[in-house]
Amino acid sequence: MDSKKIAIVGAGFGGMTAALDLAKEGYDITIFEGTGGPGGLAAGFKEPEWEWSVENFYHHWFTSDAYMFRLFAELGVEDKVLVRHPTTVMYYKGKFYPFDSILSALLYPGLGFGLNKIRFGLVGVYLRLTRRWQPMEKTTVDAWMRKWAGEKVYREMWEPMVIGKFTEKFAKVVNMAWMWARFHVRSTKLVTYEGGFQAFANDFGHILQNKGVSIRYNAVVEKVSSANGKVTLKVNGRTEEFDRVLVTLSPAQMAKMTPQLPQEYLQGLLDLQSLGAVVLVVSLKHQLSKEGYYWFNLPKAAGFPFLALVEHTNFQPVEKFGGEHILYCGDYLATDHEYFSMSADELLAKFMPSFSRINPEFKPEWVNRVWLKKSYYAQPVPLVNHSKNIPEIKTPLPGVYFASMSQVYPYDRGTNFAVEIAHRASALVKESFAGESLK
Ligand SMILES: Cc1cc2nc3c(=O)[nH]c(=O)nc-3n(C[C@H](O)[C@H](O)[C@H](O)COP(=O)(O)OP(=O)(O)OC[C@H]3O[C@@H](n4cnc5c(N)ncnc54)[C@H](O)[C@@H]3O)c2cc1C
Repeated sequence: MDSKKIAIVGAGFGGMTAALDLAKEGYDITIFEGTGGPGGLAAGFKEPEWEWSVENFYHHWFTSDAYMFRLFAELGVEDKVLVRHPTTVMYYKGKFYPFDSILSALLYPGLGFGLNKIRFGLVGVYLRLTRRWQPMEKTTVDAWMRKWAGEKVYREMWEPMVIGKFTEKFAKVVNMAWMWARFHVRSTKLVTYEGGFQAFANDFGHILQNKGVSIRYNAVVEKVSSANGKVTLKVNGRTEEFDRVLVTLSPAQMAKMTPQLPQEYLQGLLDLQSLGAVVLVVSLKHQLSKEGYYWFNLPKAAGFPFLALVEHTNFQPVEKFGGEHILYCGDYLATDHEYFSMSADELLAKFMPSFSRINPEFKPEWVNRVWLKKSYYAQPVPLVNHSKNIPEIKTPLPGVYFASMSQVYPYDRGTNFAVEIAHRASALVKESFAGESLK
């Protein structure tokens, strides 16, 4: 008799972690991945003349990403993990100021040096130290910050970030627990992997294959159904049967591919709000930030047409990319935003004037080439009392499990939490076999 068969849909960090956990239990695991490689949203691309890959969407870890560090140790790849301290800057009246340490926050001129700076500091310390996020999910960032940090601090410091991350549409309705989580767990030191995130995903995939996990690339799952204790997947037009399935896609994709789910669960999936991301990756002949800054928070109110400019080669060594200086220009947007239908060249023309605001010497001739990366599911939006709206990982459909970025909470989505939710999902799958033999 064969082992219990488990299908995992998606070879992102979540799907691969669940496969690792379940392979250890001796189950027969198949991962179905729609694209040609592992990594999901954290995947990267590599031009022939580069030694390292560039992430499609800017990615780093924090030293506080405990689930990732445990995973590195379990996979035996700690020696490839690199910790760095690049500089993040904020804009104020035409200039950029470092903003990633207590000292730099104290020196930042945006709030003056009186009462507002003190309120800003006290609110920051409170959010860093308190563990009680639950009362904060009952209110919005907008209301809480205006009350406790004050109008000026909120308007200068946090509102531009909340608008940038969630758009005008959602900026006033995002709950305060989301903001708490940012203060509570993030480190200023940032972490990456030798070769880039794609190199880690490739290593992870190979380790899984060595443990007997089958990873099927270019395998698009179209439908999931459940009957008589078995789960059936329709993959590239053909059906295959399993004992359990874990889906790691977006709630909208889950709803579409699993029409048998009860109406209440389906509606819960469809009610979840999220934004997409459009990122233009630009290769330059020269370094853009002469100061070597890595991350620029750009306020839209100051006329910047995107949220974050990230100079990747001020974080990773430029020699690994054939001497090309790599920039990301990124934004989170509603999926009907015009940027989703613009070409790379059109976006470059729109974004390029901002480069001169960072370095007045910049000239369009500095641009070598560009790549355009889009995702329609990039950032879940946690509304007030979100904890009550999170779909269960164990769905009401027998044998079918679901773990996505939208169920990560109160922390903001990220690979660390994809790993964490995957551990919970794999524990539930394992528990569902309790009392049954492996075979
Ligand atoms: C702009 C941006 C910046 C980010 N920055 C960071 C960061 O700095 N640090 C960090 O830790 N995280 C960051 N994240 C978040 C991080 O990428 C995600 O939280 C994480 O990758 C989610 O992993 P996952 O396995 O849950 O899902 P995904 O990575 O989305 O994996 C799902 C997989 O399913 C596959 N798939 C889709 N449809 C099908 C189908 N029908 N059949 C089969 N397979 C299918 C997809 O190709 C994908 O590989 C960022 C995300 C974005 C968009």
